[in-house]
Amino acid sequence: MLAGVTSPRVRLRAEIEALKPYRQGKPAAADAHKLSSNENPFEPLPAVLAAIVDASADINRYPDSTAAALREVLATKYSVTADQVVVGAGSVSLLSQFISAAASTGDEVVYSWRSFEAYPGLVTVAGATSVTVPNRPDQGHDLPAMVAAITDKTRVIIVCSPNNPTGTIVTKDEFAAFMAQVPPTVLVLLDEAYIEFVTDETAVRGIPLLAEYPNLVVLRTFSKAYGLAGLRIGYAIAAEYLIDAARAASIPLAVIGSAQAAALASLAHESELMERVGRITLLRDHLWQALIDQGWDIPKPSGNFLWLSTGDYTATAAEIFAEAGVIVRALGDGIRVSIGEPSAVDKLLRASAEVVRNL
Ligand SMILES: *Cc1c(COP(=O)(O)O)cnc(C)c1O
Repeated sequence: MLAGVTSPRVRLRAEIEALKPYRQGKPAAADAHKLSSNENPFEPLPAVLAAIVDASADINRYPDSTAAALREVLATKYSVTADQVVVGAGSVSLLSQFISAAASTGDEVVYSWRSFEAYPGLVTVAGATSVTVPNRPDQGHDLPAMVAAITDKTRVIIVCSPNNPTGTIVTKDEFAAFMAQVPPTVLVLLDEAYIEFVTDETAVRGIPLLAEYPNLVVLRTFSKAYGLAGLRIGYAIAAEYLIDAARAASIPLAVIGSAQAAALASLAHESELMERVGRITLLRDHLWQALIDQGWDIPKPSGNFLWLSTGDYTATAAEIFAEAGVIVRALGDGIRVSIGEPSAVDKLLRASAEVVRNL
């Protein structure tokens, strides 16, 4: 019996023992809407399911560890070489690989806060130290303050646009001014997990900037807009030497064959998927306006989610949403609500009206 072992215990890294395991969005009751994980509400396309079934015929074999076919398609799509593309088991995995490739004990990783919940843990596992820079009052990244936080120990800076969970973007101009001040020896990870939902023309788009900045990595995922969260597949584009470093830091063979096949099928049916993305962004903008009309102060949303600043009232507010049949994500001083099925809208707005009255 291993349960209940008290002593002697294995000596673990103190920072790992102190780490809280990553918390997932709560599973929803059968009749509730799960709007807590920024998932795509649409069912997989039949062609994507068919590709997964086809690929399953080969599960006695290891997958192609280089994801060569997928990298070729992505390289053509973005006018880069296949050697500038790396595929990972979700872009969270790629974030981890890049952080580990550049930072370890004694090194610092700068990112804004509040931002993606996975960042603190990934930095700690790499052995490095998080340096967080508070968001501006309008919930956007404070890029000048992030530049000011750079020290001799800084190895990585993470920029998340649109930012999870506040939904804010970094503009092209803000990003250019930022990059002009970041030393070329510091790795910049631009996390574009929600870029397909961006309709704001002023927002930064990293891929066209790669030629200009050899220290820039752009991270993308099939989890959100493409609806493949359950298959774990994402990619990054950067200069070849950075891609090589991420590969060196990877767990071999983590990207399974059916995920590669599903991603290829999704790219082959991209216009259908982007039409769905268009419907989600329309619903997002409609919901945003409805919430503003209720009296909420919400930054302009650019992802597939909205950020409600609920302060000290957050835990109670999350319960009110849950009672209304909407599972949201409570994050410290606010609530993140994913844009899901249109059928969730009425429940969501009824609960939000109650919450905003009590703020
Ligand atoms: C969802 C998300 C990711 C990617 O998740 P994967 O499923 O691992 O590809 C990356 N960054 C942010 C900010 C996210 O919200």
